[in-house]
Amino acid sequence: MRPQTHVLFFLLYICGGLSLDFKVVDLTHDHSNTTIYWPGNPEYNFTILARGNTTGGFWYESNYFGTAEHGGTHLDSPAHFYKDRHRTHNIPIENLIGPGVIINVKNKAAANVDYQVSIDDLKQWESIYDQIPKNAIVIMNSGWHERYPNASLVFNTDSPTDSSTFHFPAWHEDTIEWLISERSVNVVGVDTPSTDFGQTKTFAVHISLGKANISGAENVANLDALPESEV
Ligand SMILES: [Zn+2]
Repeated sequence: MRPQTHVLFFLLYICGGLSLDFKVVDLTHDHSNTTIYWPGNPEYNFTILARGNTTGGFWYESNYFGTAEHGGTHLDSPAHFYKDRHRTHNIPIENLIGPGVIINVKNKAAANVDYQVSIDDLKQWESIYDQIPKNAIVIMNSGWHERYPNASLVFNTDSPTDSSTFHFPAWHEDTIEWLISERSVNVVGVDTPSTDFGQTKTFAVHISLGKANISGAENVANLDALPESEV
């Protein structure tokens, strides 16, 4: 099992010991044989190892699953695009927790499928909610999460195995540089398959985030269930 799954279990354990006076929102798409992977990755593999009554008189079931890292809702560790940066198990757990900031660009993405979130989009958010808080988890809501798990709609192409044909929104590299230099962020996310927009040739956002040891989150789900700011 991947280390971030342990993080989830840990958080559930902590929450389980408290009386919940907040709503818990699952931001993940189902991980299953419908999971969308970046082209070139092997498909999800689920195998039943045992399922049934045993000679001992008790029920027993056990399964195997195999998955590439970059499928469905997932973390991009900094090492993904930068040498000698954190792999998932190296990321301090406090770097995966932070105040949520949702940047709603649905209208802009509807008008331009190649939209890249701008510094002005962040300043507009700050004009409403105040400065982006320290250690924030900043996620683009382009409305794309509603297209999942239809690969042709998510990658927005008739050729979902050819990444050169992809057209979906994400972050602009200048915006990421501004977030890194002017603010403090723990995670940068998208509801599309990549923190770089579909037509990128340079993966500049991935590289900048990796260099700064900041994690990415891709194919984030259910963003409409979150407020745009926690305050
Ligand atoms: Zn990824």
